[in-house]
Amino acid sequence: NAVRREAIWNVEAYVPPAISFNGAEAPGEIFGLNVFSKTVMQKRLPKSVYKSVIATIEHGAMLDPDVADAVASAMKDWALEKGATHYAHVFYPLTGLTAEKHDSFFEPVGDGSSLAEFAGKTLVQGEPDASSFPNGGLRNTFEARGYTGWDVTSPAYILENPNGNTLCIPTVFVSMTGEALDHKTPLLRSQQAMGEHAARILTLFGHENQKVVAFCGPEQEYFLVDRHFFLARPDLLNAGRTLFGTKPPKGQEFDDHYFGAIPDRVLGFMMDTERELFKLGIPAKTRHNEVAPGQFEIAPMFERGNLAADHQQLLMTTFKAIAKKHGMECLFHEKPFAGVNGSGKHVNFSLGNADLGSLLVPGDTPHDNAQFLVFCAAVIRAVHKYAGLLRASVASATNDHRLGANEAPPAIISIFLGDQLADVFEQIAKGAASSSKGKGVMHIGVDTLPVLPTDPGDRNRTSPFAFTGNRFEFRAPGSMQTVAGPMTTINTIMADSLDYAAGVLETAVAAGTDFDTAVQDLLTQIITDHGNVVFNGDGYSAEWPIEAEQRGLANLKTTLDALPELITDSAMELFERYGVFNHREMHSRYEIGLEQYTLTIGVEARLSLEIGTTAILPAAVKHQTEIALNIGALKAAGVEADTAPLDEVGAPITALRAGLSALRAALKADVGHSALAEAEHARDVLLPAMADVRAAADALEELVADELWPLPTYQEMLFIL
Ligand code: ADP
Ligand code: MG
Repeated sequence: NAVRREAIWNVEAYVPPAISFNGAEAPGEIFGLNVFSKTVMQKRLPKSVYKSVIATIEHGAMLDPDVADAVASAMKDWALEKGATHYAHVFYPLTGLTAEKHDSFFEPVGDGSSLAEFAGKTLVQGEPDASSFPNGGLRNTFEARGYTGWDVTSPAYILENPNGNTLCIPTVFVSMTGEALDHKTPLLRSQQAMGEHAARILTLFGHENQKVVAFCGPEQEYFLVDRHFFLARPDLLNAGRTLFGTKPPKGQEFDDHYFGAIPDRVLGFMMDTERELFKLGIPAKTRHNEVAPGQFEIAPMFERGNLAADHQQLLMTTFKAIAKKHGMECLFHEKPFAGVNGSGKHVNFSLGNADLGSLLVPGDTPHDNAQFLVFCAAVIRAVHKYAGLLRASVASATNDHRLGANEAPPAIISIFLGDQLADVFEQIAKGAASSSKGKGVMHIGVDTLPVLPTDPGDRNRTSPFAFTGNRFEFRAPGSMQTVAGPMTTINTIMADSLDYAAGVLETAVAAGTDFDTAVQDLLTQIITDHGNVVFNGDGYSAEWPIEAEQRGLANLKTTLDALPELITDSAMELFERYGVFNHREMHSRYEIGLEQYTLTIGVEARLSLEIGTTAILPAAVKHQTEIALNIGALKAAGVEADTAPLDEVGAPITALRAGLSALRAALKADVGHSALAEAEHARDVLLPAMADVRAAADALEELVADELWPLPTYQEMLFIL
């Protein structure tokens, strides 16, 4: 097929743009170049203003409204020097994407000239016309206003563009009633709640007045595909994933791609992205090939949760843009290619602060170990008690293709602790004070707790929630979604567990119980009640779902099984208790979850119908005609003709026609107007109808002459880069 052949030629002829990391572009010199950082503020702000802003950033103090004008003025001068002409409040609406509204700095003055203006109130608050963002019933059209508000804790930055730069200000996005219309607001609220209760635990252990924050290190997996192929695949272009395509003769089974040498062209792309990320102050660190051909990963250094979330969004935008510059498309979809490894976004979570480091480090003094065990037990309790909420926090139509499929954790939420820690908790469960495992005596009395290894040698890649030495790694989040949702859930359920633990310990101590005994009792209680969630085995095995069911762990397979977790009484009470979401906000999340699910599958279904009808069926019919003509010609020439090939291609063509009519009918069906009914129709009728169409089409791909096949194949997309 001419389109495909031309695409391949173009890939061959491609010359990547030259980039260099030398001289003035050395990473050390460009890091944070485009960030209105603390250093820049210190240089440019009056001392008192600087102190006041830092108090808010570092210690969570209320923002002093009087400082806004001074900050705005300094920010404007800095931005103009950097070539900015516009400023934008950047926010994170419930689409999961990034939104920004740009305004010019320049305002006309009477005499026909203009003046650069940027007042404090413009920095602090914006009012984008917000009526077309999803709000899940939080806003009626008659009160369609939405407000953006400056997030002082996430620094402003310059976004470069050859046509003019923009000053970007990270903001929250709320309705007139102060309800969250975005992902950032609840994340900030949840961090505050978690920090407060973590500090109570620290106080009990003798660390007074500690400010505890959540840390997040998000690993991003993605695919790169040459744009020539991408543009010839309407499904990739519009749905982000292939809706058709047979597995290539060679897949990932050789394990020859993972951590292999990075192709030159991809390495050029990676260096270019890293340079841009550095300028934006994003600490890109690790890069490597992933499991599937064409799949790669980037991991930045962990940062404070809300900053990591903002940076993660910025990273995705940057990757998309730079891939284009290098003639490639960056795919963030969780499952762009069926039968091939999917992409996730592992959320590495810990809590702590600069003084104490991560509170999830086992440490090597007995006293600290007790403290570690309390935090670790709090995680175990949180994950067990609120597994459904964790599952709901990663629920989407696109992630459903990944969870439980090739090399992705199952939809069952469990915790991996590693042998050593699991053993410690098993002993705690028995209330035993001592035992020996490995070297020396392991003693569980609080005064004589074991010295735990900081890095429990073994790794588990099949668990959705794994302890990895100094943090937990939540591996279920999808590659396309913002980390803000999962982080908000983790922070909130941790706030609940830490609140519980602090309450139990405070009460026991007040009643005169010895602190060590109180800690021991608490740990035993938690592991007895919640130890069922600990699973160190193979999460990909066929036995695990059966065992999980016996343990009473939920297996919420699809988004529609998971979303109702958001609106149970206990979930709503939990989020309300910690001031993260009120009832209305929870309901809005649920509604939007359903809506997005239906929209996503609706687009895919219409695309399947269109591509099947206008591209695949005609190619197949043409092929069929050629065979028929051939048979006719042979017969006319008096040669015996085998008609089997005609039957062979006839069967899938009939199936494809039937599948397409069924899909057309399913798309027209009247399913009423409830969001749930529409979503259920998408899951129970549209998805199976699409699967039938695909099965017939994929069978045809293996029969129809390559010359006629209209779509770039898996082989071409995955192996030609
Ligand atoms: P792996 O692939 O083995 O999981 P990576 O190096 O790809 O490891 O990614 C590890 C991620 O975990 C990085 O983003 C890193 O910054 C982050 N991380 C490391 N320590 C912590 C911590 N204490 N808290 C949160 N994230 C962390
Ligand atoms: Mg990882």
